[in-house]
Amino acid sequence: MTLSIDTDLITIDKIQLSPKQSIETDMLRLDKIHPQISGNKWFKLKYYLEMAKQAHKTGLLTLGGPWSNHLLAVAAAAQINGLESIGIIRGEKPHTPGSTLQEISELGMQLKFINRSIYKERDALLSSLQKQHPDFLLINEGGQGEPGILGAGEILKFVQDLEKYTHILVAVGTGTMLAGLALASISNQQIVGISSLKGEERIAAGILEKFPSLQNRIKVLNQYHFGGYARHNPTLLAFMNQFYAATQIPTDFVYTGKLCYAWHELCTTDYFPKDSKILLIHSGGLQGNRSIDPDNLIF
Ligand SMILES: *Cc1c(COP(=O)(O)O)cnc(C)c1O
Repeated sequence: MTLSIDTDLITIDKIQLSPKQSIETDMLRLDKIHPQISGNKWFKLKYYLEMAKQAHKTGLLTLGGPWSNHLLAVAAAAQINGLESIGIIRGEKPHTPGSTLQEISELGMQLKFINRSIYKERDALLSSLQKQHPDFLLINEGGQGEPGILGAGEILKFVQDLEKYTHILVAVGTGTMLAGLALASISNQQIVGISSLKGEERIAAGILEKFPSLQNRIKVLNQYHFGGYARHNPTLLAFMNQFYAATQIPTDFVYTGKLCYAWHELCTTDYFPKDSKILLIHSGGLQGNRSIDPDNLIF
């Protein structure tokens, strides 16, 4: 069965975590558009799909970890668009593949496992992959790059009254979505990224090198990674449950759970000026929660 993207499902929900919360906050629910091409991934892939069609490519080739939202999105987008797909997976082939890998294979993506040291030598890996598969469009990990940035900028088309928000808060992996949103935002808005990575503190600097006009507009906070990418602890999981209980909105432990935790802490520590109006971007990724024990979460 192929499902198509339905941007009519996007809503903007008011977030009130407790009666004490004084900073007005809304959330843009990109998580609702598609269970596999979830959240920001649809936007980041949009122009890659156009490039593949224009260049008459027969398939999409990309890479990621075994629970990657990006790989799943590429596999589903390829299937919907009648393209083949190849996924290069970081690490050894597991004895029993997790549910994301299973789903990716069912979507017709051909999987190749590559050991971590080769995977790390990204430029060499990418150029050898492109040579081996000239008819495939190569998409870098996470859909990073100009087409990804351009597509992510279109997220803000779905925000009515965009000008009322003083701050837009967003989860950060590669920073592609942050760059796209910042370029598409209104000039007095602050775009605050919450990094889910540890030890990668040059994301904002990298964006500013490419787009100096974003100086004073973007900020990436690096203290909410909970130990690193895809790491979690009981505090984070308890917060995600508390957030769900109060709002009925599920979050994922890799990105949006950390985003919402950071938002809450920043509100309680008076990070935002009193009359701020916040827009949180729910960038999806809920499928990744399948990688942790289901008893941890109440949703
Ligand atoms: C991929 C992903 C991100 C990170 O997006 P970048 O553009 O790489 O910064 C954030 N949230 C979710 C849910 C994602 O799947």
